[in-house]
Amino acid sequence: MYQFKFQKAKSVAEAFAGLGKDGDAKLLAGGQSLIAAMKLRLSQPSALIDLGDIAELRHIKVETGTVTIGAMTTHATVAASAEVKKALPALAMLAGSIGDRQVRNQGTIGGSIANNDPAADYPAACLGLGATISTNKRKISADAFFKGMYETALDAGEIIISVSFAIPKRAAYVKFKNPASRFAIVGVLVADFGSSARVAVTGAGPGVFRIAEMEKALAAKFAPESVANIKVPAEGLNSDLHAQADYRAHLITVLAQRAVAAALT
Ligand SMILES: Cc1cc2nc3c(=O)[nH]c(=O)nc-3n(C[C@H](O)[C@H](O)[C@H](O)COP(=O)(O)OP(=O)(O)OC[C@H]3O[C@@H](n4cnc5c(N)ncnc54)[C@H](O)[C@@H]3O)c2cc1C
Repeated sequence: MYQFKFQKAKSVAEAFAGLGKDGDAKLLAGGQSLIAAMKLRLSQPSALIDLGDIAELRHIKVETGTVTIGAMTTHATVAASAEVKKALPALAMLAGSIGDRQVRNQGTIGGSIANNDPAADYPAACLGLGATISTNKRKISADAFFKGMYETALDAGEIIISVSFAIPKRAAYVKFKNPASRFAIVGVLVADFGSSARVAVTGAGPGVFRIAEMEKALAAKFAPESVANIKVPAEGLNSDLHAQADYRAHLITVLAQRAVAAALT
């Protein structure tokens, strides 16, 4: 590790002021990605501003039609929340599928979506459930938030406060996971909103994306057979030591069917 300053912020305003004073400072949430990147010198912030003591960033609120989760809420808390399990079981299940016990106890929803790893699970939940991301400056729809590999719409100095998910009639997330890290080789979230449906895919490409053709078919009839013959082109998908692009393309259709079947049971 190299030398850097460390500040424990007591409020969002204090964290924002810290970022304003030092353009090379970075926010620290669970540290599961940032500390690893610092150890590898892929990230070299001059200062870390720890959000861990800011109570206003840790909450879960279920209201009519939405589940809102504070940015510093850990994956383990979301997975274990009785309120989330009741209102939006697919989200609790997705959070419980992230990494291992240690990662779930440290990693946060705000850190995960700010990081926007192309194989992360929460971006699929945000996009598939039509989430709104609230920051200290504005509200951003998930459709506008995820810009590409590790890129988001966040401006310098912008802090995620919470994420609000729309509660669908039913939803499910199915992941074909890397057995070592549990990151998604491909993960598909499907959500039935009655007159419309959403299908979001993570792990397959350089960023999370929706599949309009599947959404149209599922809006007409929310059943596994509606997506069974919709092939996704392999062009532009990831090829690496875990899976080739054509295999990932095949998995998307298979997992979409499984997710619809799971949502119906
Ligand atoms: C072994 C291992 C396995 C994993 N497996 C999975 C998996 O299966 N699925 C999955 O989805 N993820 C997985 N992860 C990632 C993990 O779940 C964390 O979500 C992720 O590392 C980021 O969250 P964090 O809270 O640790 O953020 P940090 O590492 O602290 O921060 C990440 C980035 O987000 C920024 N940031 C943090 N909070 C905010 C905020 N409120 N506003 C703006 N910017 C912010 C930071 O400045 C930093 O740039 C794994 C990680 C590890 C180490």
